[in-house]
Amino acid sequence: MKAVTYQGMKDVKVKNVPAPSILKDDDIIVKITSTAICGSDLHLIHGMIPNMPHDFIIGHEPMGIVEEVGRGVTKVKKDDRVIVPFTIACGQCWYCQNDLESQCDTSNPHGESGAYFGYSETFGGYPGGQAEYLRVPFANFAPFVIPKDCELEDEKLLFLSDIIPTAFWGVDNSGVKDGDTVVVLGCGPVGLLTQKFAWMKGAKRVIAVDYIGYRLEHAKKTNHVETIDFTQYENVGEYIKEITGGGADVVIDCVGLDGKMTALEMIGSALKMHGGAMGAIVIASQAVRKGGTVQLVGVYGARYNQFPLGDFFARNITLKMGQAPVIHYIPKLYEWIVEGKFDPTDIITHRLPLEEAPHAYEIFDEKKDNCIKVVLKP
Ligand code: NAD
Ligand code: ZN
Ligand code: ZN
Repeated sequence: MKAVTYQGMKDVKVKNVPAPSILKDDDIIVKITSTAICGSDLHLIHGMIPNMPHDFIIGHEPMGIVEEVGRGVTKVKKDDRVIVPFTIACGQCWYCQNDLESQCDTSNPHGESGAYFGYSETFGGYPGGQAEYLRVPFANFAPFVIPKDCELEDEKLLFLSDIIPTAFWGVDNSGVKDGDTVVVLGCGPVGLLTQKFAWMKGAKRVIAVDYIGYRLEHAKKTNHVETIDFTQYENVGEYIKEITGGGADVVIDCVGLDGKMTALEMIGSALKMHGGAMGAIVIASQAVRKGGTVQLVGVYGARYNQFPLGDFFARNITLKMGQAPVIHYIPKLYEWIVEGKFDPTDIITHRLPLEEAPHAYEIFDEKKDNCIKVVLKP
């Protein structure tokens, strides 16, 4: 089968690889019909995530049709249409039973954290879903079976695999409530969906920050938010504090590791701390009001990071973060899409065959061709 494979820094190739097979009784094999590229995949090709083997299959935002089921599978049948959440989770452990599936205790044979499709040996060593077929373990728990009478096309549902529930969790977990001022850092796919959910949770003011013009435009036009290009300000965090009368109630960082910076530059920028263009977390620490909340949805990889702990402490700021526990949010968000409460498809700018993955990665990474989100079609 064809699959997108990791070759090294900024290098992916579509290769012919052996198709997956059932390894455990509760596995299924899914024939992938649509699969997206995520900002998290960019951290991989920027070399920010350790233990990424050469030729490893990337991808964690897939959906498709069940091709084969293990003999212990009861939740899913052959030919069911399923969404595959990026989180691999057993459904049995304490974390899975307490809505924290991204910290599943049993799915990662290599480490303490959870496991994700196509995201290095460190995060479980499970081949990813930018491929024609995918082995999905723990199929009695994780996959969401799309009801037979659903006529919605893949594009409306695909992002339930990750960025829709991720964005929703970011807003939910940070405690956004009626009347809040919310700042969303980043107008990539995750930031744009986060802006929609901030409004739906009752925010009275939503301010979006980025520096890519066409993404700021999209945020303003589609989500009706105020926008700020952070490169226009000497210190954008202080500017936000000023225009919000003391800072936002909640700041949601939908940036994380900045691919444009090497690890060394990131340390340098964190040390500069009160300089101009700087890491999102530094902006967040300044843009939030005293006693407010900063929620990190953007991924931070290194085990130890320089970050403005003193500012957080001095101003009683709550800091929340993590890999989103997406699985338990999917049924409700599916219903909302069916009911037309929100439509995630405005972020899709490119639909390409799987074979064109190298080009897709290039335009998404380099922010070329007004790219916001790419859907690959195997
Ligand atoms: P993306 O790369 O398309 O978007 C990031 C945006 O942030 C870009 O538009 C970029 O120009 C902007 N940006 C860069 N530096 C900035 C700064 N200092 N201030 C404001 N904006 C800045 O990626 P995406 O697909 O939208 O994903 C965003 C982040 O969410 C990534 O870090 C990704 O790994 C993470 N993510 C996390 C989870 C989770 O479970 N926590 C799930 C999915 C994605
Ligand atoms: Zn993702
Ligand atoms: Zn578990």
